[in-house]
Amino acid sequence: MVLCMCGKQASLRTPWSDCNPFYACPDQELNCGFFDYIDLEMSHRSIDVIHGLIRGGRNMFEEQLRERGMKQESSKNI
Ligand SMILES: [Zn+2]
Repeated sequence: MVLCMCGKQASLRTPWSDCNPFYACPDQELNCGFFDYIDLEMSHRSIDVIHGLIRGGRNMFEEQLRERGMKQESSKNI
């Protein structure tokens, strides 16, 4: 359990934009400004997984582009 600076149980936030889960003050109004990243090793591993997915997706996209390019070239020859 992680406590924030006002002694409350910090809530876990997972912003998918930067892929780093962190603990923050659960009190929206009082907000003590507490901020702490969770197990960095774990989040690094998930970043690797996400980057792998992005890389895989890009490869698929490039393959589709190449296929489309080949099709365009073959239609030019006809
Ligand atoms: Zn707090």
